[in-house]
Amino acid sequence: MKNLDRFKGLSTTAIHGGENPGPSTRDSAPPIHMSSTFHVEEETSFSAAGFSEDNPYVYSRWSNPSVDMLSRKIAALEGTEDCACFASGMAAATSMFLSFLSSGDHAIISDVAYAGVSEFARDTLPRYGIEVSFVDMSDLDSLRNAFKSNTRLVHAESPANPIMRISDLPKIAELAKQAGAVATCDSTFSSPIATRPTEFGFDLVMHSVTKYIGGHGDALGGAVAGSRDMVGRLRSESCIHHGGIMSPFNAWLISRGASTLPLRMKAHEANAFAIARWLESHPKVTRVLYPGLKSHPQHRLARTQMKNFSGMIAFQVGSMENGEKLAETMRSGLNVIHYAVSLGHHRSLIYWLSTDAMIESSFKLKGDQLESYRALAGDGVFRFSVGLEDPEDLIDDLEAALA
Ligand SMILES: *Cc1c(COP(=O)(O)O)cnc(C)c1O
Repeated sequence: MKNLDRFKGLSTTAIHGGENPGPSTRDSAPPIHMSSTFHVEEETSFSAAGFSEDNPYVYSRWSNPSVDMLSRKIAALEGTEDCACFASGMAAATSMFLSFLSSGDHAIISDVAYAGVSEFARDTLPRYGIEVSFVDMSDLDSLRNAFKSNTRLVHAESPANPIMRISDLPKIAELAKQAGAVATCDSTFSSPIATRPTEFGFDLVMHSVTKYIGGHGDALGGAVAGSRDMVGRLRSESCIHHGGIMSPFNAWLISRGASTLPLRMKAHEANAFAIARWLESHPKVTRVLYPGLKSHPQHRLARTQMKNFSGMIAFQVGSMENGEKLAETMRSGLNVIHYAVSLGHHRSLIYWLSTDAMIESSFKLKGDQLESYRALAGDGVFRFSVGLEDPEDLIDDLEAALA
């Protein structure tokens, strides 16, 4: 991967990063390389061990020009040497865990994280002899106490889904480094426009590019960015052997979406501010969690590590009963906003996440950790991914539902 992708500004990088179409056709817009295999002109090694990013294209599970284009764009946006793309955000997350952890190792994972990551860490990793501690990473003393002599990986997520809890990324990276553990960060809610975790010392940053980076709700994908060495290891182990690679068509769609990421993030943030303030003034809304608002308990920390507060809001409407009633109204009664999971799209998406259900199915928290979750989530939150529609239309929709 040549380093032709760096420009002064992130907007130029988002548009031109990774895009250098072949000299013979002189395309302005990049083509889609759907070929699964390539003409081999020189005998090449058939083993993942012999693969480097300078290899000629051989077979698309190893590398593909359209997927490379997106990888280079994301690496340029994150400011890292390299990036590997996967079929989904979950494939990206599991690639890190399965490539950097072995039987007998210990991992520390944020006790509130994407539900699939939590469940994988709890239910699958132990079957491979990997011990996991789930830690509230916003509490640095708990994190400090969780390290063991065999801790090999620390996984953070900020803001954490769905309660918008912020973790102190530079401090977490420092503690991981002192312990000689790989520090990984799920930065899906922030996007590289808000936060670049490797600048704070993280080794690897992952995204569900299904969300903000793709941005249009029409393609699943995942990415992990970091140093050439570490991403190279992911590529040879996870892409080539586990096989959860991204399709060239998805890479092309997501790359097209990523071109407008800086512009979209500004608009997501502006809309989210307008909606969060409106929600705060609504009598039936009991709590609004948006890192950009002073009322967010970690607003000051958020300001030190988020250059954009993104478009994700969580809000409460009092009791569990109120939440379930409002969710029912929303399932049938919204005009513009879609009652649907996922996030980061140009279309607004909202979803009710009851605390009891999240704790029972995904997080299994007890004691102080459950208290810490409830302190932000109450009986449950509406997770609102504020899209790019006009805020007055979004407010009309919410107003009618809350009436
Ligand atoms: C959606 C999501 C994932 C999983 O990504 P998929 O593309 O759905 O597999 C991981 N982490 C976060 C924070 C997410 O929002």
